[in-house]
Amino acid sequence: MKITHCPICGIAFEEPVEEETLRFSYWICHCCGCEYGNDDIPDYRDKWIQRGAPWFAERERPIDWNLQEQLRHADLSWNKQTV
Ligand SMILES: [Zn+2]
Repeated sequence: MKITHCPICGIAFEEPVEEETLRFSYWICHCCGCEYGNDDIPDYRDKWIQRGAPWFAERERPIDWNLQEQLRHADLSWNKQTV
C-alpha cells in the first residue's frame, strides 16, 4: 500500500511511498521531525502538538500553514498499540 501523507503529522509526501519502505526508512519528516521506524508512534504526535507543533525544517513552513487541516491526513491508527 502506498502512503501519501506522513502518518504522524499528515503532511503530504512529494511522492507516494510504499508502506513497508516508509516503516523501515529512518527518514525524518521535515514537518513533525519523527523518524520512521523509530519514533513514528501516536505518543510522538501528542507530544509534538503539545510542544506547539514546531517544524523540523522551520524554513519550509508555509506562511498559511494550518495544523488542524493537515492533521486530517494523519493516520491515527499508525503504530497504535492494540492492548
Ligand atoms: Zn510528519
